Amino acid sequence: MSDEENIEDIDEQMIDEVMNVISTDGYYQQAEIVKVTCPVCGEEFLGTKRHAGGFIAGHRAYHEFVNSQDMIIDNMGGI
Ligand SMILES: [Zn+2]
Repeated sequence: MSDEENIEDIDEQMIDEVMNVISTDGYYQQAEIVKVTCPVCGEEFLGTKRHAGGFIAGHRAYHEFVNSQDMIIDNMGGI
């Protein structure tokens, strides 16, 4: 097990591995590398759980925003 990786060097072969990750926003010790897929648009993310959480929250916010815009437009009888 390699014990230290730069966030930019993470690849699919490291999924489920636990390692220390050096990232631009901090040093993550004993971080598990995970892969997540957005159920709405199918975009995939590979990285630490911390960053995957940001990916999921970001996609949720984005897709909710787009959907709410569509609803507002519908409610006003537009397009
Ligand atoms: Zn998405």
